[in-house]
Formats: sequence, structure tokens, C-alpha cells
Amino acid sequence: MKPGAKSRFCVYCQFVEKNEVTEEEDKKRDGYLILKWYRVFHIDDTVGIESKCQAVEPGSNLSPIQRAEDVISAYLQRESTLKFFNEEESASAYYSPARDEVVVPRLAQYQLAEEYYSTAFHEFTHSTMHESRCNRKPESPITRFGDKDYSREELVAEIGSAMLCNRIGIENERAFNNSAAYIQSWMKALKNDNRMIVWAAKKAEEAAKYILNEKD
Ligand SMILES: [Zn+2]
Repeated sequence: MKPGAKSRFCVYCQFVEKNEVTEEEDKKRDGYLILKWYRVFHIDDTVGIESKCQAVEPGSNLSPIQRAEDVISAYLQRESTLKFFNEEESASAYYSPARDEVVVPRLAQYQLAEEYYSTAFHEFTHSTMHESRCNRKPESPITRFGDKDYSREELVAEIGSAMLCNRIGIENERAFNNSAAYIQSWMKALKNDNRMIVWAAKKAEEAAKYILNEKD
């Protein structure tokens, strides 16, 4: 390790199936989620270890991932009031509770399709806060960027997105690292209260199941 190197908080979650299932039974898959956290060092802070990551060329032609598209279109079909905009060149992604709409940049603006879906699932997880869905109300009626409610909701959205990507099987190291860094930053805002991540993971699981239309 290089002198002065600092570790980062890293979250790992994985869906574990209870039984072997055939493809027809796939929709009824039964299992549980494992959530672990570690402190990790960036490879640039180590000595004598070579990175296995390959450089990503920007501007590559990306194709939609059908499994992820299917989840999104089924969710939108069930949620008739929810609007989704992904055709415009956009610098940001957001969910507007007032308009009940999710906006994300176009797929072509990303370096990897997995990153696009990771962003889209983050915003769709936010959309489950709606009272007709998972009804996650903030404790305080006024939620501002950086306050406790805002940080908690960001944790829910990012963990929900990681769970959905894992569940659909579209995880990618780069997208995952971005998620871990994002979760770490919100954990910091919540003063690294580990109970908060357990609470957020529970809410994220509810949200992911809601989006996948899986009942308990
Ligand atoms: Zn968010």
C-alpha cells in the first residue's frame, strides 16, 4: 500500500436462490439477498498489483439489453401514471414526484449500457416512493439536498438499482464501482451510521420487488 492511502467503504449485495429453477419457473424464483460491506483500497494506491480492468472506449455503439428493457416496459405498463423520458440529450437523470416522471439521458450518451440501466433503475427506485407504490414518506415535509431524508432516499435508490442490476444479471464492474462510491458518499452524509444502510437495504428490497412485480 502506498503511504497515506485511504480505504473506501464498499457494499456488496447478491441474490441467492433457495432452489434450482427451470426457465419457466424463473418468474417465481425464491431466495434472499446477501448484503456485505468492506473497506477497500483503490488499485492505484497499491504497489505490485496489476489492474485486470480494460479501458473503455467512449462513444461506442450501444445496444439495449432486452432483459432490462422488459423489466422497464412491464413496470411502466402497470404504473399508468408514471411517465418515462429517455429520448432527449440530457445532462441529468431525475425522478420528479410532483409530475411522477423519470427522465434519464439517452443510452448513446453512456460508455456502457449497464451504466444507463443502473441510472434508470436508480430513478425508477425513486419512483416507488410514490404513495400509490411503496409510499416512502420523508420524516420531514421539506426535503433538501444533503439533509438526512434526502441522503436516506439516495441510499435506497442506489442500493435498489444495484439489486435490480444483480437480479437481472447485468452487473458490470465499472457501474458497480460507481454505485459503491455513490453509496459511500451518502453514508458519509449520514455519518457512516451502519444501521442506516440496513434500513435502506430493506426499503430498497421492497422497491426492487415492487418494480419486478414480485410478491412476498
Ligand atoms: Zn437519486
